[in-house]
Amino acid sequence: MTDIVQLWSHATAWLSLHAVAPALQALHIHDVKADDVAGAAMIAMLQIGIISLIFRPLESLAPADRWADRNLTRIDRLYTLIMLLGLFPLFSYLVLTPFSNLLGGSAESGGESLSGVKLWIPWFGEHPWILLGVYYLLYDFTYYWLHRIQHLIPWWWALHSMHHSQRQMSCWTNDRGSYLDGVIQSFILAGVGIFMGVNIEEFAFLTLVSELIQNFSHTNVRFGFGKVLDKVLVDPKFHRLHHMRVDPDRPNLHNCNFGQVFPFWDILFGTALYGEPPHPTGVNDPAVDVDNERGLIAMQWYTIKRFWGAIRRRSGWVPGDVGFVGDDFVPVPSSLLGHQPYEAEASH
Ligand SMILES: [Zn+2]
Ligand SMILES: [Zn+2]
Repeated sequence: MTDIVQLWSHATAWLSLHAVAPALQALHIHDVKADDVAGAAMIAMLQIGIISLIFRPLESLAPADRWADRNLTRIDRLYTLIMLLGLFPLFSYLVLTPFSNLLGGSAESGGESLSGVKLWIPWFGEHPWILLGVYYLLYDFTYYWLHRIQHLIPWWWALHSMHHSQRQMSCWTNDRGSYLDGVIQSFILAGVGIFMGVNIEEFAFLTLVSELIQNFSHTNVRFGFGKVLDKVLVDPKFHRLHHMRVDPDRPNLHNCNFGQVFPFWDILFGTALYGEPPHPTGVNDPAVDVDNERGLIAMQWYTIKRFWGAIRRRSGWVPGDVGFVGDDFVPVPSSLLGHQPYEAEASH
């Protein structure tokens, strides 16, 4: 283990010295530490490596859905590259670091936050790994409820539905989503962490571990973790059912499996679905499904338009499954939409 840590820090130092520092100098950027940028780049490359060298080949070996081509997955790969190489490090550096410094969690105070659980229960200060575990449970619990509300409140579904519009759900789909939704989510989740006194490095580490677990849970494979482990960690079978298209014969079946990393919140609150064969993924609502034909900027723009169509109307605040109709995206109960033919052949 120490060998790996050493190898990692050697590689980071090498990258920092030979690539990042000269690049920063050439760009006349002096107030960013080359080591920080090199560390973030190494983590991003490691993740992209794991997705493309492990998860992606598994999709060819044992696919849940068989596709004639992978055309629709390309845009999701772009989303992942933008997130890992750009938005995630930028958000951590420009927003979270100053925010957490403000609350006393800066490196100058030894990385120790002055607020949070460590202050209230000093025992946690001596057991940082247990604190991290407790924080992670709370983080995932918060995510579970946030995710349920994303599906329940029409203006939030207007944003979150873009993540669900993908018909070819793959190892790249996790980062496909509305950037406005991403900002709202990140502030809520980071807020919980900062409130608990988790420092910024720990938060970044947790986010990255979650990211990998989620990349895998979106992977198009037909196997899961088995009958015991699939109750402990979210696996591809579990999350694929969350992405199922509405089944007109069982119109509530798709309201299931909201957990991000741990499935036990679904088990506890009655939304877990196991033992169901894979269904076709995507959405039936034509106003959302058309995302599949758009590029990244148009997808973001139309998602904002849907959001605006919903948030300024009373019907945008009434909980329930909705679809969007008309040029200004009026939310209506999805039972009024009528159903697209349910293409069972999209599944294997
Ligand atoms: Zn969802
Ligand atoms: Zn998903």
